[in-house]
Amino acid sequence: LGTLCIIDRKPRSLSNEDLEALKDLAATAERELAAAHLATLDELTNILNRRGFVMVGQHSLNLCARQRIPASLAYLDLDKFKRINDTLGHQAGDRVLEQFATLVAGGARANDISARYGGEEFAIILPSTGVEEAQMIGERIRNKVESTEFKLAGDIIVHLTVSVGVSCFPENGQGPKQLVRVADEALYQAKGEGRNLVRCI
Ligand code: GH3
Ligand code: MG
Ligand code: MG
Repeated sequence: LGTLCIIDRKPRSLSNEDLEALKDLAATAERELAAAHLATLDELTNILNRRGFVMVGQHSLNLCARQRIPASLAYLDLDKFKRINDTLGHQAGDRVLEQFATLVAGGARANDISARYGGEEFAIILPSTGVEEAQMIGERIRNKVESTEFKLAGDIIVHLTVSVGVSCFPENGQGPKQLVRVADEALYQAKGEGRNLVRCI
């Protein structure tokens, strides 16, 4: 994971006790790093959670800003997801979320940053992507979800759709949270116009 360096002003020889103390220190550092990493992951889907998304996403947007390249954010919300929970149970809902996360993260490009932003809401930062291309990517995901058979226990299959809102960097905000807020307005339009739609701000 890295190097831990402890320096004294004068030469010394290491006793076994000193060595053990150093090993303890290294183990503590490893635990801290592992805990920090875990705190950025969503437990159910194993992709980034909101905290991780905001951290990693801001870093990516900063790089875009420095190179003066655009980026977009797609905000995805499963349509009528509550029905799955209500009719098939919370566990079935969880299975759907896992498969949806795999679909979203699996379809992403190397520099894209995808995350579970909230309950059944996912977000993707698309670096070097203008609004039109982002809309096409949203459309591709929308299509893919529509044709996916989500598999549940007992060979049950369910079909779902997703609505997508797209916002643009830097026009709509400087950070992931602001871009999500604006994309959520576009998403609200998509929901209002009947769902299973991609809308830009
Ligand atoms: P809409 O098309 O307007 O988005 O309708 P919806 O039913 O998807 O939206 P709503 O906000 O009414 O319901 C979202 C549901 O997502 C409610 C909540 O119980 C469920 N949910 C949130 N997190 C989880 C989770 O971790 N597991 C499961 N199984 N359900 C979750
Ligand atoms: Mg929602
Ligand atoms: Mg929903």
